[in-house]
Amino acid sequence: MEYHEIEVDSLLRRVERDTQFGHHYIMDLYEGCPSGCIYCLGKSAKYSDVPAGFFQNIRVKKNAPEILNKELLKAGTPKRISIGLGVNDTYQLVEGRYELTKKCIEICVHHGFPVHIMTKNDLVLRDVDLLKKAGAIVTFSFSTINQRLAKILEPDAPYVARRIEAIKELKRVGIPVGMALYPIMPYITDEEDMINRFFETAKELDVLYAIDSPLRLPEDMLPYFFDTMLQTPRLRRFLKRYQRLYKLREVPYGKVMQMINMNCYDAATHYGIARKIPD
Ligand code: SF4
Repeated sequence: MEYHEIEVDSLLRRVERDTQFGHHYIMDLYEGCPSGCIYCLGKSAKYSDVPAGFFQNIRVKKNAPEILNKELLKAGTPKRISIGLGVNDTYQLVEGRYELTKKCIEICVHHGFPVHIMTKNDLVLRDVDLLKKAGAIVTFSFSTINQRLAKILEPDAPYVARRIEAIKELKRVGIPVGMALYPIMPYITDEEDMINRFFETAKELDVLYAIDSPLRLPEDMLPYFFDTMLQTPRLRRFLKRYQRLYKLREVPYGKVMQMINMNCYDAATHYGIARKIPD
């Protein structure tokens, strides 16, 4: 793993208000992520400046707190900022050393901007006092809650059980927490039983919401993704179907998409769970 300190000129990205997460801004404090999730959009040049070495070369935006402070001074009415919702995990290992997430949340608190964080890492527990002060919302993401399958899809991400324990702890200390089934992979993680089990777990954990989204595969990611499928015995048999499904579009369509939507809708309704961060 290599780490490179970089300086940036801007940090906040203004976006249309997101209907699931309710944010108006996104920011990434690191580029690259060591979790190695095979579906990571960081492997596309559309979403990352470093797609080739995304899992091995982590770029650290060393001046992020200073830039954020300047940008928030000019940003006007405070609106929700999501951290780590682009393509990085903001509580990845290197955060332990640089504390950019912690420093940037402190700046958001100072300027009165609400914060939402998406992560797979229990390092978030380091900052519970600050998160409480910030009134932050935390989403833990999962591609599946089946650990054996997760090991194939997210080889170096924290174990599912560890994420679940972190959710319990956040709940215990009173921080609003939700879960994301991100992404749902056609034929691999989209079976009714698997989706049900995810929402059932969300119900058992009594989280505030459970958000879902299907797998997106930008065109420039296809060679890497198909090659990974070919090299992975558990996934190889789905390759031809993926080649057909993603040939013309970035997202699944037709019956596949309908089934994903229907299964998520049914499961969320059955367990009485919101599929977005409540307003
Ligand atoms: S944790 Fe998120 S950013 Fe990191 S590799 Fe996985 S999908 Fe990409």
